[in-house]
Amino acid sequence: VWPGVPVDELPISHITNGIHTRTWQCMELARLYDRYLGPRWYDKPTNHMVWERVTRIPDAELWRAHERMRERLVGFVRGRLRKQLEARGASRANIKAAREVLDPEALTIGFARRFATYKRAVLILSDPERLARILNSPERPVQIIFAGKAHPKDHPGKELIRQIVHLAQREEFRKRIVFLEDYNIEVARYMVQGVDMWMNTPRRPLEASGTSGMKVPVNGGINFSVLDGWWCEGYHKDNGWTIGAGEDYDDPDYQDQVESTALYEMLENEIAPIYYERSGDDIPREWIRIMKNSMRTVNAEFNTNRMVEEYAQRFYVPCIEQSRKLLADEAAAAGELAGWRAKVRKLWQAVEIAAIDADDQEAQPMGSRFPVRATIELGELHPDDVLVEIYHGLLDTRGNILDGETETMAPENGAGGGRVVYQGEIPCRRSGQRGFTVRITPRNPSFPLDRFDTGLIRWFGEDHEPQPTQPREAGV
Ligand SMILES: *Cc1c(COP(=O)(O)O)cnc(C)c1O
Repeated sequence: VWPGVPVDELPISHITNGIHTRTWQCMELARLYDRYLGPRWYDKPTNHMVWERVTRIPDAELWRAHERMRERLVGFVRGRLRKQLEARGASRANIKAAREVLDPEALTIGFARRFATYKRAVLILSDPERLARILNSPERPVQIIFAGKAHPKDHPGKELIRQIVHLAQREEFRKRIVFLEDYNIEVARYMVQGVDMWMNTPRRPLEASGTSGMKVPVNGGINFSVLDGWWCEGYHKDNGWTIGAGEDYDDPDYQDQVESTALYEMLENEIAPIYYERSGDDIPREWIRIMKNSMRTVNAEFNTNRMVEEYAQRFYVPCIEQSRKLLADEAAAAGELAGWRAKVRKLWQAVEIAAIDADDQEAQPMGSRFPVRATIELGELHPDDVLVEIYHGLLDTRGNILDGETETMAPENGAGGGRVVYQGEIPCRRSGQRGFTVRITPRNPSFPLDRFDTGLIRWFGEDHEPQPTQPREAGV
């Protein structure tokens, strides 16, 4: 869409998603927040100072509230499973057994999502024997609640669900793995409010956000996820765990194997021991410390208040202002802009950077300014219609400019015909082998938002790519 525009200047940006805190917040923790954070957490969830106060909540009170939510989740799951089994025409014995699935006190992992294959729901099931040992540890039992649905036409997604349901029926998993059908907001609320830990295992870099993970820390849960989507921004050492370290492999099967091994190892050797390490009063102090870190660092950032504010400030308000300006006086400015764009498009063919003139000495001392002049053929365009810039930066080994910066050049005089000499300076701020080139784009000072939207850009040289000049090393 924007040929010739360096990637870091493309007019595409992103805003990280957020969750609506009050929708996902359980009552028990809301009461603790009222008491220890004050009323502002409710109106101003983006205030980091307010969330810092979670450290004031006594461990025992936080743990008691959280345990009640886990118990409630287990009750909800049993009831829902019973209805699921009845609808499927399961045997009476099976339906009765649903009353005893899960343990209200065991480390409880939630995994709920659309079963798109990139989400790799079965990563944790890849070694059933090892998983069975972890889940059925007599001292440190672990259980997993799955929920989700696949698009009716997504056959691989449906196959994943079939595998989970099938595995959950095996004797060693019957009490430890549950699959809930018809994942919806009600199911999601029970889950994010009651689990100890939320797991996400997407194949990098396919997860856009993984918003469900943000619903968990407002309820005291902790995330355990591949470094992808929001977790790349949300994870800090000590507020949750990662599966793998964000490395990529060419072979997806090998990557699955590496990451499932990492997952089992973390669960077995780090996460479960922390959860089951109790103080004399049966409180997992270290676990609660991580819970509080998670609440402190995630809740202020990943909510819809922050998200909407960012959309408004960065996009909506500038767009509204631009639109008002264009449409005022029977769209006078819009007409003018359309006329200007048509003119520039027609006359652009003649535009050319005829010559660059710069000192070719080898070294420039740091702190100095390096002058550059360029002769520009503007054809019938006026200097007001264009922006001429020096584009400069460090050179990579192939002579390409990395992380380019720009300096605006100013017209010096007319050089006859449509030729204009421009001049500018490069500030020599850093040492190393650097290069520069010159480029020209249409520019209309009345419409600064439309910087690249004509799609027109011309670089010095034949191939229109940034061209390095003589290598120059700055004195240190
Ligand atoms: C939060 C939520 C989602 C989105 O979850 P992701 O982690 O972004 O995939 C989908 N469905 C329901 C019912 C949810 O509550």
